[in-house]
Amino acid sequence: MNPILRPLLFATVFVLVHANILTAQIPDIQRVEPMFWWTGMQNPALQLLVYGKDIANSSVSLKYAGVELKGVLKTESPNYLFVNLHISPEAKAGTLALMFTSGKKERSYSYELRAKSTDRSRIQGLNAADVIYMLMPDRFANGDPKNDKIAGMPDIMHRDSLHARHGGDIQGIINHLDYIKDLGCTAIWSTPLLENNMERYSYHGYAITDYYKIDARFGSNELYKQYVDKAHSMGLKIVKDMVLNHCGDAHWFIKDPPALDWAHSLADYKTNPAWKKEYPRGNYRASTLTDPYAAQSDKHSMSDTWFDSMMPDMNQQNPLLATYFIQNSIWWVEYAGIDGIRMDTYPYPDKDFTAQWAKAVMTEYPQFYIVGEVWINDVGMSAYWQSNTRNKDGFVSNLPATTDFPLNFALSAAFNENESWDTGLIKLYNVLASDFQYTDANNNVIFLDNHDLNRYFTAVKEDMRKLKMALTVLLTTRGVPQVYYETELAMPGVKDPDPLVRKDFPGGWANDSANGRSASGFTEKGRSVQQNEAFNYFRTLAQWRKIKPVVHTGKLTHFIPQDGVYTYFRHNNSEAIMVMLNNNDKDARTVKTNRFRERTAGFIRAKNVITGEVLSDISSVTVPAKSALVLELMK
Ligand code: CA
Repeated sequence: MNPILRPLLFATVFVLVHANILTAQIPDIQRVEPMFWWTGMQNPALQLLVYGKDIANSSVSLKYAGVELKGVLKTESPNYLFVNLHISPEAKAGTLALMFTSGKKERSYSYELRAKSTDRSRIQGLNAADVIYMLMPDRFANGDPKNDKIAGMPDIMHRDSLHARHGGDIQGIINHLDYIKDLGCTAIWSTPLLENNMERYSYHGYAITDYYKIDARFGSNELYKQYVDKAHSMGLKIVKDMVLNHCGDAHWFIKDPPALDWAHSLADYKTNPAWKKEYPRGNYRASTLTDPYAAQSDKHSMSDTWFDSMMPDMNQQNPLLATYFIQNSIWWVEYAGIDGIRMDTYPYPDKDFTAQWAKAVMTEYPQFYIVGEVWINDVGMSAYWQSNTRNKDGFVSNLPATTDFPLNFALSAAFNENESWDTGLIKLYNVLASDFQYTDANNNVIFLDNHDLNRYFTAVKEDMRKLKMALTVLLTTRGVPQVYYETELAMPGVKDPDPLVRKDFPGGWANDSANGRSASGFTEKGRSVQQNEAFNYFRTLAQWRKIKPVVHTGKLTHFIPQDGVYTYFRHNNSEAIMVMLNNNDKDARTVKTNRFRERTAGFIRAKNVITGEVLSDISSVTVPAKSALVLELMK
């Protein structure tokens, strides 16, 4: 052989052999999601997302009693396979061998099928007997300093920076479950705990980069499950915050998507570096979705634009993504035994998808609770999103509850305004008078503030009297009360920027007071006089409420505000609670209760719930200026 040709021949043979190795490579599997599933589910269908380099070149087979392979779907990307399974009621828990074959090479993947829990009391759902404590885990308590810095996660702890991680975690919540319980709350809604492995600004948790994994800076999936179990053992329920409208752009399925229609504008984002800087911001107008006259372009701007430059807008009209999200939510309910979901930005995704999602979760767990964040200051537009509302456009939502922003706006206005025909307490009265539009207003989550709003104490100009009046309404009117962490400490704060209403809970970090930070809010001694005043007021009412079914399920009857006093009753066949709010800034009001006789008839005396004092005659009641009375009526 010509020595010059020899290397050429060698090269040719090498290429041929190498190419042969490529086509016959053992199928690469990096992810199968859901990671495992259960037998005995209501819905026998399961769709597995299989991710791995060139996995689409593989064929799939399996043999397992009661489980049938219904088909395999491919997308634009060679790195994805979607495997449809049917799990019959006869299928037993065990390990299923999924066989992936590429050329002559095979790979078996062990997929676990667990048995669905048969404990019916495990997942409880929420109702108006509950009071939700809402917190931001990064800003609540640092229970495990070892997870403050995690290799491979660039956004590390830096407590002096408003936008960096502060180190709070799941262990921190576990450590203070007794505080939350003692406060009189019965459930916890923590902002998202799923992985947000973003370069920066990830502490809030709304830029998810893995829907199946708790962020390592918060803990682990196993610790999350322990947190739910521990909370349950103490009589506390857990609400999980979910985000299906958008994810973080560092999500693995955005970096290497199954198809360019996985998220809106993904092609622009991937091919045009300038797009990200000038991406078309949406109008954030949820009213366009209920508006019978809305322009298509406005609806499109609301539904299909990115929430933020780092948050791709997911395309839930892609049926593979829709199934992925539905199964992911059900996976978390069954895996961890959570009691409810708070769904972020509920109107923003495709609304037919969210309706399908809510139906799927509620069908699997009829006792479950879902509250959708519907940030609209209008009762009709909010009610549109609640299940069983008879909407004229035929839309059926399947969503059990909404966040009651109309009541929130009224509560922020009423105690700041002077009384007139249409200002002050009448705003509170009128917003409740609009409840006929809801299927069940008593299911709404009601609140004074949250992580996206100015602190209520600031909204009422740091007037403790107004805060107490608002807390009284929160804990005695219809609905499921939610208190935002530190509101029980009368914490002020204006959301300019957002982290100023998301401050570290005092005492959540070791040695804070020794290091010149605030003393502990968790103990009476650590709290200031003002903090104890708010804390004790809230705690007294919340602990009392816990054992008062009349406040959970009793009827609400209210009387038109007169002379700056608003009076309402919660009542059932055996009990009656009378609440009186005097909105006059300087003067007490003595009210003849004869006007309320349809509700006071048969009652003579009353017990003041806050002071314990007994009023021997309720025919006339004096309410001090800018204050509330909660009276348990007695015969
Ligand atoms: Ca930590």
